[in-house]
Amino acid sequence: MSKLMISLVMAGMVGINGTAEPASPSVAPAATPIGSIQLPPLPYPENALEPMISAGTVGLHYGKHHRTYVDNLNKLIANSELTSVPLEEIIRVTTNSKDKEGVSIFNNAAQIWNHTFYWNSMKPKGGGKPTGAMLTAIEKSFGDYEKFRQAFLDAAMAQFGSGWVWLMADKDGLKVVKTSNADTPVAHNQKALLVCDVWEHAYYLDYQNRRKDYVAAFLDHLVNWDFATAQLGK
Ligand code: FE
Repeated sequence: MSKLMISLVMAGMVGINGTAEPASPSVAPAATPIGSIQLPPLPYPENALEPMISAGTVGLHYGKHHRTYVDNLNKLIANSELTSVPLEEIIRVTTNSKDKEGVSIFNNAAQIWNHTFYWNSMKPKGGGKPTGAMLTAIEKSFGDYEKFRQAFLDAAMAQFGSGWVWLMADKDGLKVVKTSNADTPVAHNQKALLVCDVWEHAYYLDYQNRRKDYVAAFLDHLVNWDFATAQLGK
């Protein structure tokens, strides 16, 4: 039995004979369908985020980068037991993999999840100061909205190379967290509320090396606070 297979059996995702078991609520997030991994549809047209993020950037980012992670993952897991488990579980069982194949599966699966979360973290005419429960939670954890905004910008600028900046929630409140490369809160059982992609492919066509201007535009004009608030309630 392969190490991956042992992990899946231990996670309760497959039976000892390798067949998929009925999903139990404790280990099976409902977010993705069982089966081969699909590229989720964009929640808006490619030009909907203009002028902050161009249709050209979204087309390349979603249509090439995001799609390539999906294609790569499907090739990597073809004919394996991983075709019968949800994306989130593929990420969990390959977290901390040491072998080349496990690392590749993790990187592609995590990037699919992170990008889907990123597209949903934005909407046309979004951004700015939230209201209601989200504003209350931000003020409780950061003092005020401006301090949160600055903390998010600082994290984006402090992330060396490729990565992601997240607003997350835990038992102590909200926090801004940066992750490198494909790392994802799914791997660490953390609750994400929103994310900004700070890989250069997310902004280079529109902002060249001005990452701060891109992240400021994300915060001030694009954040989907309704989506973030919905995560808070989960
Ligand atoms: Fe990206």
